[in-house]
Amino acid sequence: MQNDTENPCGYCKNKDSAVLYPTYDIFGKNYHINQCQNCNAYFLSPHPSPEELARAYDTSYYGVGEEKFNEGWIEKMLDYFRGKRADIIKNHLGEKGKVLDIGCGNGRFLSFVKDRGNFEIFGIEPEGGSAKRAADIKGINLKIGFLEENDFESESLNAITLFHVFEHLTEPKATLEIIQKILKRGGILVMSFPNIGSWQAQIFKGKWFHMDPPRHLFFFATKDFKQLMTELGFELIREKHFSIEYNPYGTQQSILNMFHKKREALYELLKGNKEYVKEYSKFNLFMQQLFFKLTGPIFIVLDAIESTFKKGGTVEFAFRKK
Ligand SMILES: [Zn+2]
Repeated sequence: MQNDTENPCGYCKNKDSAVLYPTYDIFGKNYHINQCQNCNAYFLSPHPSPEELARAYDTSYYGVGEEKFNEGWIEKMLDYFRGKRADIIKNHLGEKGKVLDIGCGNGRFLSFVKDRGNFEIFGIEPEGGSAKRAADIKGINLKIGFLEENDFESESLNAITLFHVFEHLTEPKATLEIIQKILKRGGILVMSFPNIGSWQAQIFKGKWFHMDPPRHLFFFATKDFKQLMTELGFELIREKHFSIEYNPYGTQQSILNMFHKKREALYELLKGNKEYVKEYSKFNLFMQQLFFKLTGPIFIVLDAIESTFKKGGTVEFAFRKK
């Protein structure tokens, strides 16, 4: 196997990694997925430049319209899942506490948390359309930017959440260390991310939907991540693989990626990015949407099977700080 001693690991910055397989982004740029020989993280190599990241996070990432998805039913469904996630917080914390959502998006998850009791809600979101929407959430303490060392006092928060955010961070190790410091003893950390050890990741490799280059910078196999969190002083209290929200679509879009030169064409279409799909005929796009709608139930059943083997396309963890 080829080794790479140039490009640092997306998690620990070590410069010795094994080159595993190629991948490519929606702009047609080619990358590799490497595995770090120090911390076992899988990461995108070479590391995207600030300009490439800015391009990948421009307004179309968050949807062209008022909300991320043009079809209202998708946003309604997302609200249902945001409510479910807010229930996790209530189940572990009771009806009060300080809750920080890192990468809070439009802030709707936090607004659901607030509705469930006497919670103080804190959100952090990089500058952009989502942060503007989050600023309108009632009662939110919003920081536009990234989590930094002195944003919160030591052991001051009851819960911290990162839903599909960790894999986007350019300084993930430092972020986890700050989280460890600002979370109270007995407080909970809930996070979800793509599962690189999943069946869908292993089958589709560089064409896997949740690979999402260049936005996803690194991945952990669940076993390695749990080990890492144990070393940081956390105890695992929940590991969930089944996700109707993320996993069936992960397989569906990955299959479509096998048959199209451009990756994520349907996903971009659903976000209203008509420019991206203009080379595909109306018939082609209609068929892609039909495939999505008709085969949904099959992939939900498949996800249930994958999840029993802990091989779901994404994973959600909850840890308690000891
Ligand atoms: Zn590493």
